[in-house]
Amino acid sequence: MEDLIARRQAIYNEIYDRRQALEEEVKNLEKTISKINSNIYDICEHNWVRDRDSQYDRAYTYCTKCNMHLRPATSGTASGTHSCLTE
Ligand SMILES: [Zn+2]
Repeated sequence: MEDLIARRQAIYNEIYDRRQALEEEVKNLEKTISKINSNIYDICEHNWVRDRDSQYDRAYTYCTKCNMHLRPATSGTASGTHSCLTE
């Protein structure tokens, strides 16, 4: 039985190690996606449309070209740069 317990522990360890490695890899891939999205957002000549019938939330405004949501105006700029879309 002890060999089974040892084997079980070895598998637990392997699962832990692989999970750590995969989480690290996924984190890096998500960072890459984030950078790519940032580039796309900057260079796309957006065509903003409102999703469904929402009239209140900017999160529901998305671009038909890059399929990204309209970001809220960054703090520091008093009014948003997309004033055409505000109420
Ligand atoms: Zn776009």
